[in-house]
Amino acid sequence: MEDCIFCKIAAKEIPGKIVYEDDVCLAFLDLSQTTDGHTLVIPKEHYSSILTADPEVVAHVYKVAQKVANQIVKNMGAAGCNILTNAGEVAGQTVHHFHVHIIPRYDENDTVTFKFTDRSKDVNLDDILDKIKG
Ligand code: 5GP
Ligand code: ZN
Repeated sequence: MEDCIFCKIAAKEIPGKIVYEDDVCLAFLDLSQTTDGHTLVIPKEHYSSILTADPEVVAHVYKVAQKVANQIVKNMGAAGCNILTNAGEVAGQTVHHFHVHIIPRYDENDTVTFKFTDRSKDVNLDDILDKIKG
């Protein structure tokens, strides 16, 4: 897609530090390096997010993410990692080409924060379940 930075990296129009590549996807170092080894896995084909991507492509991207995450954790000496994708600006997506983040974690006191607030006392799970089911 024109003017998509990740399409340009996939097409090698701009350079990326490539960790893994096959016919369908590419894994390359995220410029921000939230932690050392922070890597993105993208499909070469443009989809705006996971919500609109071909399910078979999603499956392949996650399969590769698992493989690359194991390689990063082992070779970087990480204690674990977060594997996640942001869908939509409200969820923090800034590049609108589907991508999966692999963020190695070395230390519980690192600067990465994902805070899952416990709202269990304020909500009704049955109401929410009914709503999801439609
Ligand atoms: P999002 O916030 O959309 O989930 O993540 C986008 C990520 O892409 C950010 O972590 C950002 O650092 C990374 N990024 C943005 N532009 C470039 C670029 O040109 N090259 C690389 N390697 N990463 C980029
Ligand atoms: Zn794109």
